[in-house]
Amino acid sequence: MDKLVDAHCHVFTDPDSTHGSDDGGFQGTLRCVMSSNPYDWSSLKKLAGNGLRKDNVWVGFGVHPWYSHLFYVGYRRDKLSHYQDVLEYKNEEQFSSLVQVLPEPLDLEDYISEEFDGTLVSVIGEIGLDKLFRLPTTGFYMQGEKARLTTVKVKVSHQEAVFRRFCQLARDNRRPISIHDVKCHGRLNDICNEELLPWPSVKICLHSYTGSEETLLGQWLKKFPSDRIFVSLSKFINFKNPEDGNALVRSLPPTCILTETDFPIDNPDPSYQRDLTEQLQFLNAQIAQAWDGSLDTTHTALHIYENFRKFIK
Ligand SMILES: [Zn+2]
Repeated sequence: MDKLVDAHCHVFTDPDSTHGSDDGGFQGTLRCVMSSNPYDWSSLKKLAGNGLRKDNVWVGFGVHPWYSHLFYVGYRRDKLSHYQDVLEYKNEEQFSSLVQVLPEPLDLEDYISEEFDGTLVSVIGEIGLDKLFRLPTTGFYMQGEKARLTTVKVKVSHQEAVFRRFCQLARDNRRPISIHDVKCHGRLNDICNEELLPWPSVKICLHSYTGSEETLLGQWLKKFPSDRIFVSLSKFINFKNPEDGNALVRSLPPTCILTETDFPIDNPDPSYQRDLTEQLQFLNAQIAQAWDGSLDTTHTALHIYENFRKFIK
């Protein structure tokens, strides 16, 4: 069977941790598993600690913009002042109910110094910026929970402070990063130019990239050499419209392309695992087609595999 690459996937975010620590013994797919917050990080540590299939699992450590408000950067503040500082809101009532359900904020420096383990972590991610997302009434997003959305957002300036700190962590530890970017294409590129451009050891994966081809080619690939930039493609975002997906593939150097599900992997149900495999096979078939059909799916899978080895190295 082809070696499949899931360059950006997750574990469930569940504060009560009923999930975790089992990916169903799945074999064969190389997985780069992100962490986004303290809850999924504790599951991912368990999963990695199982010691099984270590060759196939790479561990990511980061704080996703959707959870950046759970941390303060800099000096300690009380809970209310912290959330007043980092959240953007007009509706006072929504804000006060959120503060009631949100946890005490954590010190980002403490989190990093207590949890970052260079022997375990291969990638810094998922990190990034998101201009559109709004907090759910539960205070933060949990997979499988359908909470209503409020109109409250996290200030982009706060997201940036968190993102920059993780860029520095990547730099200090010579780790690649995996980036989430929603409607912040130019800003993210600027920050990466400032924080990462002079550090050739840090490679960058733009996951489920939705920016323009212009930003991709005219900014990212203009400034950074193409062996530092990777774009991991997902079925549900990049190939929602297969024409767009194919155009994106054709616009990129073939060495920059990776595949991903962006799904949580810690559900051992065989049909769930099969679906993840099928997503990656679908992507390889689409990429093969976009590459003029000169390569079959097996050779395409091999290329993606080689790209991934370069990203993760
Ligand atoms: Zn993700």
